[in-house]
Formats: sequence, C-alpha cells, structure tokens
Amino acid sequence: MVASYDVVILGAGSGGYACALRAAQLGLSVAMVEKDKIGGTCLHRGCIPTKALLHAAEVADAARNGSQLGVHVTVDKIDLAGIQDYAASVVNRIHSGLTGLVKAGDIAVVSGEGRLVSVDGKLAVRVADEDYVGDYLVLASGSFPRTLPGVEVDGDRVINSDHALKLGQLPSSAIVLGGGVIGVEFASAWRSLGVEVTVVEAMPHLVPTEDPAIGTALERAFRRRRIGIRTGVAVHSCQASGDAATVRLADGSELSDELVLMAVGRGPYTEGLGYAEAGVRLRRGFVDTDERLRASVPTTYALGDLVAGPQLAHRGFAHGIFVAEEIGHLTGRLSAAPLPVKDSDIPRVSYCDPEIATVGLSEEAARAAYGEVETLTYDLAGNGRSRILKTAGFVKLIRRSSGPVVGIHMIGSRVSELIGEAQLINGWEAHPSDVAPYVHPHPTQNEALGEAHLALAGKPLHSHG
Ligand code: FAD
Repeated sequence: MVASYDVVILGAGSGGYACALRAAQLGLSVAMVEKDKIGGTCLHRGCIPTKALLHAAEVADAARNGSQLGVHVTVDKIDLAGIQDYAASVVNRIHSGLTGLVKAGDIAVVSGEGRLVSVDGKLAVRVADEDYVGDYLVLASGSFPRTLPGVEVDGDRVINSDHALKLGQLPSSAIVLGGGVIGVEFASAWRSLGVEVTVVEAMPHLVPTEDPAIGTALERAFRRRRIGIRTGVAVHSCQASGDAATVRLADGSELSDELVLMAVGRGPYTEGLGYAEAGVRLRRGFVDTDERLRASVPTTYALGDLVAGPQLAHRGFAHGIFVAEEIGHLTGRLSAAPLPVKDSDIPRVSYCDPEIATVGLSEEAARAAYGEVETLTYDLAGNGRSRILKTAGFVKLIRRSSGPVVGIHMIGSRVSELIGEAQLINGWEAHPSDVAPYVHPHPTQNEALGEAHLALAGKPLHSHG
C-alpha cells in the first residue's frame, strides 16, 4: 500500500516531532514514523531522565550539607528504584502531553521501523509493507551511544547511558570513560548518591569542547567533591571479569572498579536505513547537508543529531521548526523564508555540580576569528546569591576589541538559569555598554551577569574588573 503526504518524517525525537508539529500548524499533511516512543532520546533516555537523576542527587547533597546552614538532616538511604520511579513519572507526564499535542495536530503517527526506499522515482519511507511517500522527506533518526575500539559494552559491567538509567542498583565504584557532558553529568550524580567515581578523558581537560577555563574550574570542583580525574590519557582497553571491570590506559596504568560507563559521545544513526542506497550523501556517518539542512537528494532534509554539530535537544527543536517553515515557504504557506539555525548561537548547558552554561566562542576561537579580543572574568565570590548558595564559580565574557560580546562562559551552581539572558546578549551582538544600564534584581545570580558587563564597560561595582 502507498500513502501520500506533504511531509514524511523518519524519527519522532526532538527534531522530528518539532518538525511535525510546526508543519501541521502550517497546514501541511504529515506522517511521522517512529519505531519506539514519541519524544526520542531526549525524553526517554537523555535530557529528562538524567536531569531528574541530577535533581535527586542535588537533594541528597542539600540534605547531607544541611548542617552547614544549621539544618541537621541525615540521609538514611538512597533508593535508586524510588529515584527511577520519580524520573519515570516525569517522563510519562511529558510523554502523554506530547502525544496529545501530536494527536491534536492531526499528525499520522506510524509505529514501526522505517527505511528509505525509492517508489516510482520518488523517495518514500517503507514500514513493513507500506510505503509513505512525501513531497518532502525529513530524516530525523537521531543518534546512538558510541563505543571505543577495545571496549565491549556488555550492558552489565560495561554500560552506556541507556543502561545507566536502568541500573538495578548503584555500584560502589565506577569509571566514567569520557569527560564530555554526558560523562560529567553521570559522574556528578553518582558521586552525590555515594558512588566512588573516576572520570577518564583523553583530551587535556574535562568538557573539552568548552573554553579551557571552564574545564579547569570543573576539575577543581570535582576534586573537592572527591571525584577522581584522569585527563590527557586515552583508553587502551577494557576487560570485564567477575565483579569488576578493568580499564587499561594508554600510559600503561590500570583502573579497576565495579562498573564502567562508556560516555565517549554519540554517533549518527544512519546505517542500515537505506540512506546511502537512496543517494543520500554521508560524511563521517552524518548526513551531509547545506546550511538549509538540505540533503544531497532533492526535497529531502536532515536534522538534529544526524547533522554534524552540537548534539542537543534544543538544536533539534530549532532544526525541526526551521525545516517545517522552509517547506511552508516553498509551498507558499509562508511568505518569508526562515533564517538557518547557527550552531555558534546555540547555548550549551551541563547540569553537573557545579553547572556549566555557555554560549558563543571560546577565547581561543574568538582570537582565531577576530584577532584582538578583550576578556573579563567576574568571580561569583562577589555575588551575594552565590555566597548564599555556597557556590564558587565565575562568569567569563569575551568581546571583540571595542566590539560586541561574542562568548559567555559560566560555571557555578544554578548558572543554567542565566543562559537565557546570556544567549540574547550573544545573539543580539550586544556591547557591554548596551547591557550595563539594565538593572538586575538583587540578590540574584543574574546580577553576576549584569556586573560582569558593568565591569567590561569600565564601571565595575562588586568586582575588580
Ligand atoms: P533522537 O531524539 O535520537 O530521535 C530519533 C528518533 O528516531 C528516536 O525516537 C528513534 O527511535 C527514531 N528512529 C531511529 N531510527 C528509526 C527507524 N528506522 N524507524 C523509525 N524510527 C526510528 N540534550 C540537551 O539539549 N540537553 C540535555 O540535557 C541533554 N542530555 C542528554 C543526556 C543523555 C544521557 C543523552 C544520551 C543525550 C542528551 N541530550 C541532551 C541530547 C539529546 O537527547 C539529543 O540531542 C536529541 O535527542 C536529538 O534529537 P533527534 O531528534 O535528532 O534524535
């Protein structure tokens, strides 16, 4: 059987469902194929369950440290099943809300494994023996956890992030391979829940895609929390035996613990789906697109984690909306073409303790792009709310010499909540003197952002800027 739609989307994760919702709003008929659950990695195995785990971890730390504030509490038990039930309840509520939105949008959801095929010269998604032909096709099949050569993920002693969210019990000790965002978030949560953790990262610093000042500060904070750190050394191999797993590092040293978490990034899910056979050009496994997210075959787009760049849910949402509006424009439903999504404007947050929130260029990248830059680091020690929260950290600003702010890098408890303002400053190419007159409420951590701009505009208040 063949069914025809304006738009057929393969994958109902952050990117796919955002595209479906926006396309439906524009009056396009939409079919969305999903082999698992609407919401994809972010909702079921990523952002939401990990942030629920991290929130439980934060509560445990708050209780444990309560006596520092005169509130004496003891943590009797960490009930992992209870934490998982709490996370599942959050996920289920969001899933049911999302399913309702998709239903209200009159989007045809096709359950099953889809594959790209050619039907009478047109591309279609085949599910079992049905073909869904679209005037436009959107590839949104997402990504999977990568592994390393020499490491076999057995789901028992050596696990990935999917397994880590379903553990029957917490290990007493764990090695996290990979100090990127997923690695540092699990390391942070597990440490708060009582696990002895060591993070191994091949690059010189944790969170290596961030400005090195952030990595250095995170390492200092993690060491204070007694999280072991091995940076600048690659993994040679990993062997599970009995009740332990042993990691051999490239420098010949060995680490042995109860569990190993592979957190070395995620690969695009493009193999075995008929993409290459249909003529869709891949580069290093990712779908090769232009800045308008067009794949190499006509009327076919790719988005989200399938497209090389930061693998983040909000980038997927933005891609999905962009592609829907592009199709809306091409079919005469929208008069103006949408603006492409710029990776450099996408904010990045790691929800470890301390949190990291950044947008724009690192100092090194800004120097490479613009030559002369000015930087200012505002220490959270000068911020009242951060003192109350007992957090250390900073806001680092980078501006083009006498020009706009091109990078904002923050570390400290709860700085994720500051990223909204930071992203506007970066996106609107504001100068420090544009931000300085805005009065920030006291005592908030937002004041730190305001004061950093005051200082960079040459009128520091609670800093030595
Ligand atoms: P996905 O969400 O992976 O969706 C792809 C969908 O396609 C899936 O539902 C899959 O089942 C379906 N699919 C694949 N192949 C087929 C097929 N052949 N037929 C039918 N369906 C198919 N991002 C953030 O922004 N913030 C965070 O805090 C954050 N935390 C994360 C924590 C973890 C542990 C992980 C793993 C990821 C995290 N991410 C986070 C990243 C985020 O989850 C992804 O960037 C986002 O989900 C990508 O969306 P997507 O639509 O491209 O792909």
